[in-house]
Amino acid sequence: MSVNFDYKTQVLVVGAGSAGVTAALAAARNGATTLLIERSGFLGGISATLPWLGFHDREYRQVVKGLAQEFVRDLVADGDAVDPCLDPKCGSTFSFNFHAWKIMAMRKMEEAGVKVLLHAVYVDTLRENDRITGVVIETKTGRQNIGADVVIDCSGDGDVAARGGLTWEKGRTKDGLVQSPTLVFRIGGVNRQELVNACKDPAYNYREWLDPYPDVRERFVANLDDLPSFIFGGFADLMQQARDAGELDVPQSRVVGVKLHEEDEFMAVMTRVLGLDPTNVDNMSNAFSSLYKQVTPIMNFFRKWVPGFSQCVLREIAPIMGVRESRRIIGDYILTGEDVIAGTEFEDAVSMGGYHIDIHRPSGSWVESYNVQAYTIPLRSLISKDAENLLMAGKCISATHEAIGSTRVIPICMGQAQAVGTVSAMAVNKNKSVRDISVHDLQNTLIDQGAEIGQSLGEPNLEAIEKYGQLPLEDAEKTSGEGDPVTSGAWLSSKREEREVGSGD
Ligand SMILES: Cc1cc2nc3c(=O)[nH]c(=O)nc-3n(C[C@H](O)[C@H](O)[C@H](O)COP(=O)(O)OP(=O)(O)OC[C@H]3O[C@@H](n4cnc5c(N)ncnc54)[C@H](O)[C@@H]3O)c2cc1C
Repeated sequence: MSVNFDYKTQVLVVGAGSAGVTAALAAARNGATTLLIERSGFLGGISATLPWLGFHDREYRQVVKGLAQEFVRDLVADGDAVDPCLDPKCGSTFSFNFHAWKIMAMRKMEEAGVKVLLHAVYVDTLRENDRITGVVIETKTGRQNIGADVVIDCSGDGDVAARGGLTWEKGRTKDGLVQSPTLVFRIGGVNRQELVNACKDPAYNYREWLDPYPDVRERFVANLDDLPSFIFGGFADLMQQARDAGELDVPQSRVVGVKLHEEDEFMAVMTRVLGLDPTNVDNMSNAFSSLYKQVTPIMNFFRKWVPGFSQCVLREIAPIMGVRESRRIIGDYILTGEDVIAGTEFEDAVSMGGYHIDIHRPSGSWVESYNVQAYTIPLRSLISKDAENLLMAGKCISATHEAIGSTRVIPICMGQAQAVGTVSAMAVNKNKSVRDISVHDLQNTLIDQGAEIGQSLGEPNLEAIEKYGQLPLEDAEKTSGEGDPVTSGAWLSSKREEREVGSGD
């Protein structure tokens, strides 16, 4: 059945989170007519609510560059950010002004000639055999059919693929459960020095998973006075005391978050619900309601119990729920936990990552984590196996539940997105299918445009290792006695035991 299109574009990007913004920018700068559609009224998605983790690997080498690096450079130059701060678990954290990022993203879209439709909800996929011919959107103007040569699904939920009947998976293999979601909120009025002093005081046990590595702890903590931004996951005893006193009843066992670069600000990443299906509207609404209810008790806990927070105020609740995991579109290759841990170098590498596998448990408590070596992401994991012209970047790439635990952080999403935006533009420029573009040409183009695919990674950063310490690839086992039964099942034969270790987010 032929469709009348209200609008046609060469490259259509659905969803304007970190992945969508970067994909659209890459496509437009490489010469494609590009349309970006977003259901909210701002660009950036979750990346406009959180600091960005994982620009660096365990050896403190910068594994994501290119457009993501350009955003960092410009935010720092504008005085809206400080350079990424190194961290032994998460590689690095980049703290910046979230509103400045939204403004910058909009400006960059305009400068590159990307047409942006805000408050435009993708509702359906138009498909002819193995081609996605376009999508249907719903706006105040009404329902519109948008035609496209290439479609990039950056919805975070794999919406375009799912409605188009393409293959996807969701959550853990054994039960489909996804990582627990969090509604993050920003706290102001924090006394930074009091907080830093508590982190240095062994009685508070800041990041207790560092216990087996006293050398790393000593080195890292010695830097806290000078680190504008640092990651938080600890103070478990304090939370337990508040719980025992009947003053805290939330499903979270640690203070989790990030000390932001603004002197008095802290991003709390502590609300939590279990069993969410992010593609079910009742579920999402109930989860939102439950997450909102946790904000006040957590604020009260901070004020009464946590050093440096006695005068703190609630500054902002994120405008969107933080869904860590949803549908993953099955591509020509499924990136696995093993690939990530082994630091696999794929022949069709188009981006990189080095962030630990960081799984906020779908059941039980806190997180499960495995350190990784700098790894590459193959183009095959960014193209739907069932379609000629559907690519994906961000949370919904073709990877297992475990691999997504690493690839999901913002810089790594942006790296994938630069690759898919670029290859889409190359395809439409040459009137070819994305699969017919020479991977070698794509890699050269990405390298020319500043992306990192291993060509300039260099040696471990010994100076940083000396300064901040380095974790072994195989973390020591540490159990808190409150984790759920083994969740990861069959996925890593050599690493079956579940371990409680620290998380950044
Ligand atoms: C609670 C939480 C804490 C985290 N902490 C960190 C951290 O500290 N640092 C870090 O680097 N990473 C962190 N992560 C991971 C990271 O934030 C996300 O994985 C990443 O931002 C995903 O980017 P994305 O572009 O794929 O998805 P999103 O940011 O979710 O973007 C998807 C976009 O698509 C839009 N969209 C969805 N459906 C439709 C539709 N039907 N029509 C139109 N638009 C649509 C959405 O509105 C959204 O803007 C965290 C994640 C969560 C959930």
